Amino acid sequence: MSNYVIQADRQLLDALRAHYKDALSDRLPAGALFAVKRPDVAITAYRSGKVLFQGKAAEQEAGKWMGKTAKPSGKQKEREAAFAPTKHELGTLSAIGSDEVGTGDYFGPIVVAAAYVDRAHLDRVAALGVKDSKQLTDEAIKRIAPAIMETAPYAVTVLDNAEYNRWQRSGMPQTKMKALLHNRTLVKLVDAIAPAEPEAIIIDEFLKRDSYFRYLSDEDRIIRERVYCLPKAESVHVAVAAASIIARCVFLEEMERLSRAIGFPLPKGAGAIVDEAAARIIRERGEEALAGCAKLHFANTKKALDIAKRQK
Ligand code: MG
Repeated sequence: MSNYVIQADRQLLDALRAHYKDALSDRLPAGALFAVKRPDVAITAYRSGKVLFQGKAAEQEAGKWMGKTAKPSGKQKEREAAFAPTKHELGTLSAIGSDEVGTGDYFGPIVVAAAYVDRAHLDRVAALGVKDSKQLTDEAIKRIAPAIMETAPYAVTVLDNAEYNRWQRSGMPQTKMKALLHNRTLVKLVDAIAPAEPEAIIIDEFLKRDSYFRYLSDEDRIIRERVYCLPKAESVHVAVAAASIIARCVFLEEMERLSRAIGFPLPKGAGAIVDEAAARIIRERGEEALAGCAKLHFANTKKALDIAKRQK
């Protein structure tokens, strides 16, 4: 019995899937887009565009499609585009998602979290109430995050304020900080789940993919394969939503820790209430105290200094 392989483009893959829709199988080998199981033939279509036909009708079934086979293109980019999974397909894969919190908050660190949810756990993680963390209250975040952390492997990186301010003074833009932190978090998680390999790594987009990798050029290790930077990625894959909830939970804990150290609750965001809180820190502990709990280059620092001066 022979195996037959054809190379298909997106259009042909769609046509194949539609043609065999009554015999689609739930069981997918790694890297497969869909699989067909019939008594006379088993067909597996891979994301690479390869389609494998096995069984006694393999030759006959493969023959139906051979004339329509895509010509292999030498241009890697075009090939990637042709075989890139759709958002819906991404959502069904075993994937790592990553997201960050704290970039717009004057007080507190930047926290990046990544979570891995494999196909077998997609429903279980979704059932925990995982959705866009921005729609959840702090109380809900603190309730759901521990349940996610028990169910899904994850990694977290915290850039504390002292280090943030050093990076910033060295001239590093915040987007580069985010890129470095995402990559370092992904390295940790990819190592932690090995030998399992994610079929996709989905970053909630803060930069286009090309710019993201440009910022990483000096890094020792770069997680590059199967990385997608997608806007609103928490609605693409539950792993991204899970990561954003973990990131927010860790951020909340860090804010509580800093608040205890400072002696009163530090507000989130970067509004007028934040200026007042910063002014109070300057009055009670001196300007230097801000370096350990705030992002100094924000305009809030100057406003707080003005407020503190007026109150003297
Ligand atoms: Mg985000």
